[in-house]
Amino acid sequence: MKNINNKINVAVIGLGKSGIAAANLARRKGYNVFASDSGKVKTHSAMKLNKEVAVEFGKHSDKVLESDIIVKSPGISSDLPIFKAAQERNIPVMSEFDFALNFVKPKRFIAVTGTNGKTTTTTLIYEIIKKAYKNTVVVGNIGYPLSSLAEKINAKTIVVAELSSYQLEDSPDFRPDISVILNITPDHLKHHKTMKNYIKAKSNVFINQKNKDFVIYNYQDKILRKITSNINASAFSFNANLKKTNTIYYENGNIYIRYKNKKITLSPDIKIPGRHNIDNILSSVAAAFLSGIKPDIIEKVISSFKGVEHRIEFVKNIKSISYYNDSKATNVDSTKVALEAFDKNIQLILGGQDKGSPYKPIYNLIKKKVKNIFLIGEATPIIKKELKGSAQMYECGTLLNALKKIQTVAEEKDIVLFSPACASFDQFENFEHRGQEFKKIVLSLK
Ligand code: ADP
Repeated sequence: MKNINNKINVAVIGLGKSGIAAANLARRKGYNVFASDSGKVKTHSAMKLNKEVAVEFGKHSDKVLESDIIVKSPGISSDLPIFKAAQERNIPVMSEFDFALNFVKPKRFIAVTGTNGKTTTTTLIYEIIKKAYKNTVVVGNIGYPLSSLAEKINAKTIVVAELSSYQLEDSPDFRPDISVILNITPDHLKHHKTMKNYIKAKSNVFINQKNKDFVIYNYQDKILRKITSNINASAFSFNANLKKTNTIYYENGNIYIRYKNKKITLSPDIKIPGRHNIDNILSSVAAAFLSGIKPDIIEKVISSFKGVEHRIEFVKNIKSISYYNDSKATNVDSTKVALEAFDKNIQLILGGQDKGSPYKPIYNLIKKKVKNIFLIGEATPIIKKELKGSAQMYECGTLLNALKKIQTVAEEKDIVLFSPACASFDQFENFEHRGQEFKKIVLSLK
């Protein structure tokens, strides 16, 4: 968070959800705001943008450089000429999140990041804390930019934030009370260019924390173990060996917390499937526990948590066949995690828009657990070639055809898993739309 007190002109680059929220916040706070978007012209009312914000479309002109600060929307490349020009003129560039931080002073800030599991973990932490403490808000990558909620946050509010590497890379001064970092695997490398840059961006979540703050991290992740080994924050690990203190782990259905001289056991009735969700639960329990939430409340919320929509979401049981919507699996890694969450008898729907990564990493899991593959969308020929010999494959084209075909081959106790391993844009607006369509068809099946 840079000091912006003496600044009066704000430029916002990129008018997506976050950019719009930042521009509106800046205007509410009395700044002159100019917004610049390289895309097609849109009206203020279509964007829900304050009418007093001046805008340009199709370019980033030198007018941007007349500002005192520039707010950069997440995902926009720092390589754009406009940022080089800004640097030459010493105009500070910050993220929407970093800009909004100037206006919020909550009681407690909990920030969640990681390559995978952010939304599930953020949601769970929010659900647990909200149960005990009403004045809790959830913000960030989860769909509610901090800028849009800034005025709702006061000295009594607990803020739970989901932060992507895009938001963190331009927030170098952020200091949450508790940070959660779930895992780091190669992702978004087109944007960050190197793994080192990606790790550096993620590290911003704990880099400014002090001794009284906590970083909750996955002990089994070698990169995380390394980057958290020499920091100021107090480390609290999950999945570590059992002899460690300041740790939380899972064994035979129980969750064990070891903190200072305390040993606490929780026995929740966990409903969300997969080992990956145990990681999400452990880190959530740790964040809630370190925020002072009583173990019985934590246990209750974990037991009632059914997961987040489109993430291995149970839809319906028809004639003893269970249908799961995992439309959020837009890459091969996510589909791998979903396949690991079930034992056997899977009828798998794969396909959509190919992303250029190999499908081979799921070959053996398919061979072991999947009865048939039903292919949809553009990626059909590529998947067919790469996964040849792993399981029987049917070319179905659409989700409707895939589900019709499944009904003719599936048997009692089978799991129908829609975990496409591909982007959705060939046939749908986004993964949410794709998941809704899947559920609509399943719910109409007899
Ligand atoms: P994110 O917000 O980081 O994308 P989500 O909670 O939305 O994460 O989960 C997206 C997908 O990532 C899930 O469908 C699952 O395949 C995978 N996933 C979730 N949690 C984890 C985890 N802790 N470790 C590895 N993969 C995970």
